[in-house]
Amino acid sequence: MTTDFALTRSYFELPEGVAYLDGNSLGPLPKAVTGTLDTTLRKEWGRMAIGGWNRAGWMEMPARLGDRIGALIGAAPGTVTLGDTLSIKVYQALSAAIQMRPGRRKILSDSGNFPSDLYMAQGLIDALDRDLELVVVDPEDVRDHLSEDVAALMLTEVDYRTGRRHDMAALTEAAHADGIVTIWDLAHSAGALPVDVAGCKTEFAVGCTYKYLNSGPGGPAFIYARPDIADGIRPALAGWLGHDAPFAFEPDYRPAPGIARMRVGTPPILQMAALDAALDVWDEVDMDDLRARALELGDRLIDGVAAACPELVLATPRDPAHRGSQVSFRHPDGYAIMQALIARGVVGDFRAPDILRFGITPLYIGEGEIDRAVEILSDIMARKSYDRPEFRTRNAVT
Ligand SMILES: *Cc1c(COP(=O)(O)O)cnc(C)c1O
Repeated sequence: MTTDFALTRSYFELPEGVAYLDGNSLGPLPKAVTGTLDTTLRKEWGRMAIGGWNRAGWMEMPARLGDRIGALIGAAPGTVTLGDTLSIKVYQALSAAIQMRPGRRKILSDSGNFPSDLYMAQGLIDALDRDLELVVVDPEDVRDHLSEDVAALMLTEVDYRTGRRHDMAALTEAAHADGIVTIWDLAHSAGALPVDVAGCKTEFAVGCTYKYLNSGPGGPAFIYARPDIADGIRPALAGWLGHDAPFAFEPDYRPAPGIARMRVGTPPILQMAALDAALDVWDEVDMDDLRARALELGDRLIDGVAAACPELVLATPRDPAHRGSQVSFRHPDGYAIMQALIARGVVGDFRAPDILRFGITPLYIGEGEIDRAVEILSDIMARKSYDRPEFRTRNAVT
């Protein structure tokens, strides 16, 4: 398949006059979502009310959409389910992993991981109140810290700040050699680059859908468990919809077979309907085409900024094999520079302490947006036009 990126772009509602380089944080609105939501609201919720659970297939949505996501991350049908937010799915995977290695004392992660993933590990350790320790090392040092003392290796494949990418297959293999259970967070991988969860044999993978998969703010998260271990998982969050027979209303928890036990409570149907429509675009996308195009556009941004604004320091690895689908630069005035950019229609974001972040999403951005970003950025830097009080006032969301 050759992906037609002009066609995929026409599927999105993009803010007028804006170069949207923030799809790694919140994907833009796919046009199809509006109609699908309207149908879900009027024809399903409006006309069926509670009947929608049976007649509109609401109850099956976590499994059905899990299969659609599975197709994008190399997971077989029936091995992915959806619901809650990514933080919750991290907690579920981690607690299951720890239970699988009762004699081991350590959870290993790295300093490039997203804070919520680390906080979840800290909270879980507190709740379990047993001799467990979270060990956080530099991303380059992960391999050296694998040992038979480690119960679980929990990593995010692509660093949310720098865009550095781990070698998921190699690290998983190395971890397994020491009997470690692996959990990969695919927040910046799913819909951004080819992923093969089954091929790399990781026990768990988790991710969110509102970034590169465009499900909208607060869209549900996903979780994968390798099929051979799924039936052995004892869920820490034992919710009624992960029960084998939710409508038997038994007093005692009995997990559903397989990945369905990782469901917790009532699925967010409106968000899932939005995701369902958002996923249609992937029927026409070849992930290798997407990756090649993203790297090409990323190189264009890196080269353009290097030539026009040498004071911005590249934070992303130059080597395509070691980066995801974002490009980041460091500057002490990063926040103000990003606000000045946004004011002129180039939307990226800022991550403390000094990172300017640009998402490269070929489904709806091309050379035009990259060149505009470079041009406006170089103008802002040359005139120091970011150096104004209104660009230095921090918003709640950066
Ligand atoms: C975006 C992101 C999250 C966000 O978690 P939510 O619970 O969905 O808010 C967590 N982990 C990583 C690695 C992320 O990139």
